Amino acid sequence: MVEDSRTIRARIFRDVMEASEDGTQPLHRDWLLDYTIDGVRLPLIDPQGRGIRNPGEWRHTLSITTVENGRYPDRQVQPGVWQYPYCVNKHGKIDSSNNKLFAAHRDGVPVLYLYKPMPYTYLPVGMVAAVTRDDSSREFTIALAEGEVRATDLVSPIEREWAQTMVERRLHQPRFRAIVMAAYESRCAICALPEAALLDAAHIRGDKDPNGQPVVENGLALCSIHHRAYDGKQLGIDEDLRLHVRRDILEIADGPVWEHALQRLPGRSLTIVPRARRDRPDPYRLGLTFKEFLATT
Ligand SMILES: [Zn+2]
Repeated sequence: MVEDSRTIRARIFRDVMEASEDGTQPLHRDWLLDYTIDGVRLPLIDPQGRGIRNPGEWRHTLSITTVENGRYPDRQVQPGVWQYPYCVNKHGKIDSSNNKLFAAHRDGVPVLYLYKPMPYTYLPVGMVAAVTRDDSSREFTIALAEGEVRATDLVSPIEREWAQTMVERRLHQPRFRAIVMAAYESRCAICALPEAALLDAAHIRGDKDPNGQPVVENGLALCSIHHRAYDGKQLGIDEDLRLHVRRDILEIADGPVWEHALQRLPGRSLTIVPRARRDRPDPYRLGLTFKEFLATT
C-alpha cells in the first residue's frame, strides 16, 4: 500500500507533469491506470470510470476529472478557478464517493485535477484545492494550488495572468489540439502528411477574433508549412473547401518544394475532412479568412 501523504502527492504530481511535458501533452487512460510508485501500482483515475479517484485506504481523494460533455469546455469562473459538481448517484442523491473530497476540502489537502476532452485522453491541469463547498448547488469551487498559492487568492492583474497562462498551456491549448487531431486523424488537411510532430491545430479565425472560439469547426490540422502559408495568406481556403494560392507565389520557379507544397494546389480541395459533418470547417469562418486572403492578392 502507498501511504496518503503530501510528499506522495507531490511525487505523483511531478511524475504526471514529467510524463505530460508539463501538462502540454495528453496522457492516455492506460498510463494513468498503470501508474506505479515505489513498485506499487496506484491507478491515478478511477478504474470504474467515475470522475473521482479515492484509493481504498486513503482518507482523501487522489484525483478528480472533468469530462467534456458539451461543445464548450470547462466551467472556469476566473483564471484557475472552476465549479466542480458533486458526484450524484442515479437516484439523484449525493454519492458517498464525495466523502473523501469533503475531507480534502476540510483538511486543505490538494488533489490532482484532470480534464478529459474525449475518450482515453486526459489533460493534467494541476493540483487543486477544494476551496469552498456549496451543499445547496452541490458544487465545490476548486482552485489551482501551487505551493501555498491558490488561484482564488490572486488579486492583481499580473497574478491572475499567471493563472490564466497556466490554464491556457495545460488545458485550453492541448484540448484544442486533441480534438482537432482526432477529427483529422492526425493528418494535414491539405497534404495528408501523417506525422503528428509536424502538425499544428490551426485556427481558422485567430483566438483574438470574435469568431475565434477553440471549437473543432474553427480548427484545421495543418503541417507547419501549410499552417504558416494559411496564416500568412499565401494560401487560401474558400467556403467550399477549395484551395487557392497567391498569384505571385504561382510564378516563382525555384524547385520542387514550392511546386509540391503550394503551386499545385489551386483547383484542388482539402484532402482530409472530418467524418462527422459537425466537425467540418465552418463555411462562415472560412469565408471571413478567405476574404482577407483575397484582399492580399
Ligand atoms: Zn501539409
